Amino acid sequence: MSEITAKTIITKSKLPEVDYCFNPYIGCTHRCAYCYARFMSRFTGHTNEKWGTYLDWKINAPELLREEASRIKKKGGVVILGSVTDCYQPIESKLELTRKCLEVFLEYQIPISILTKSSLVERDFDLLSQLKYCEIGISLSILNKEQQKALEPGASSPMERIRVLKRAFDLGLNTYAFIGPIHPFLGETEKVIREVCPYVNFIMGEIPNLRCGNWKDFSQTLKELKINPVDYRKVAESDEFYKKADGLLKKLCEECSVEYRGTFKH
Ligand code: SF4
Repeated sequence: MSEITAKTIITKSKLPEVDYCFNPYIGCTHRCAYCYARFMSRFTGHTNEKWGTYLDWKINAPELLREEASRIKKKGGVVILGSVTDCYQPIESKLELTRKCLEVFLEYQIPISILTKSSLVERDFDLLSQLKYCEIGISLSILNKEQQKALEPGASSPMERIRVLKRAFDLGLNTYAFIGPIHPFLGETEKVIREVCPYVNFIMGEIPNLRCGNWKDFSQTLKELKINPVDYRKVAESDEFYKKADGLLKKLCEECSVEYRGTFKH
């Protein structure tokens, strides 16, 4: 765990729906077994460290953001907070690095989209509610406690995440649910969508990405959950599974009158 001084804080995004990425942390102590952000390890000097065990924070993130803010504002576009980390992982409650950066986003009124698995995001509703454009996204795909603890040991519980979505929605904030990854054999997708639908403005989904150095850890966790990793992978990477997941999300969103923005596969 260490403090670093970064050279840049905003990068161009290759993700759908957003234009820039903002990541004030390197690593993520939510330690999701399926996390594909671990591919970043080779670019950040953490090649031999297990994902979830290291964390650097970019202490100069607010200053860097202030330097880049005018340029981003002028070009336009949406910045995602947390593409290869979670901006609201536990250390954020102490460092308040994301919060300090939100003050800059607010000052320049730069449109942002947050994606998190942490209820800590509610701490910043006071700032987020002052942005002209802001999306608050909660990532969730499992409700079963035992499975969720095995797959996402450091993240907030599913019920906490749903509670935060509801609170944001009740406050009139723009919310979304990111159903990701959609797991074969851990079939709670329909249940999850029905739980979150009343509290979101739109929904997106994602198929597991198993080709970024996460397979060894993830297949071990699947075995612990008594799921055959070979079967899981075969199904997860099939076109049929993608089509089925996309169709299910579309249908459920229609039923609940929630906008569906698609399911992504890598
Ligand atoms: S919260 Fe996101 S970035 Fe963090 S480990 Fe989980 S999937 Fe990866």
